[in-house]
Amino acid sequence: MISKKKALQITDALTKEYPDSTPALKYSSSYELLVAVILSAQCTDERVNKVTEALFKRANTPEAMAKLSQEELEKYIFSCGLYRSKAEHIISASKDIVEKFGGEVPSGLEDLRSLAGVGRKTANVVYSVAFGGDAIAVDTHVFRVSQRLGFAEGKTPLDTEKRLMEALPKEKWSHMHHAIIFHGRRVCSARSPKCDACVVSSLCKYYNSRKRG
Ligand code: SF4
Repeated sequence: MISKKKALQITDALTKEYPDSTPALKYSSSYELLVAVILSAQCTDERVNKVTEALFKRANTPEAMAKLSQEELEKYIFSCGLYRSKAEHIISASKDIVEKFGGEVPSGLEDLRSLAGVGRKTANVVYSVAFGGDAIAVDTHVFRVSQRLGFAEGKTPLDTEKRLMEALPKEKWSHMHHAIIFHGRRVCSARSPKCDACVVSSLCKYYNSRKRG
């Protein structure tokens, strides 16, 4: 397990490097954010923004979305990939919000996680971005970069989430989620990490073990 000192050094370096890291998704309400995050699985934020620009003109409330047919919604979101399951999840979550939460996206983490079609990662992102809660959502970037840094060597996203929560001060969770995503997209890519240009290379387990090897 990474030492608290090292975890804070990495946190400070990534915070300095990405001081304003926030999601690139466009939204104007917690509900729009929820839909955009569901659509963003295995899809770029740019693509999601194009899709939601048209979709939200047709439906941008849970009531309106719940009334769309699966087929109509699929036509809007087709280019995001995984469109069948994403359409199912968006409609299920919208119905749940209308039927169980009076049409308002709930602000509590457990309530968000209870919505049909909303996974742990999506709930954590909405909780932290829309409601200012402390949470770490583990997506593919957070999982990979955390492993390489030695931050969290869990075998599953849930394991990684728990290790990150142990290693980082609570008030840093949300920011570090975004900072690690930025780092994963810009520097620590899956196939060819730019270790020579990385601000945390001296603290990185993967980099140091390769140097030694
Ligand atoms: S040193 Fe390389 S592997 Fe480690 S975090 Fe930086 S880019 Fe990723």
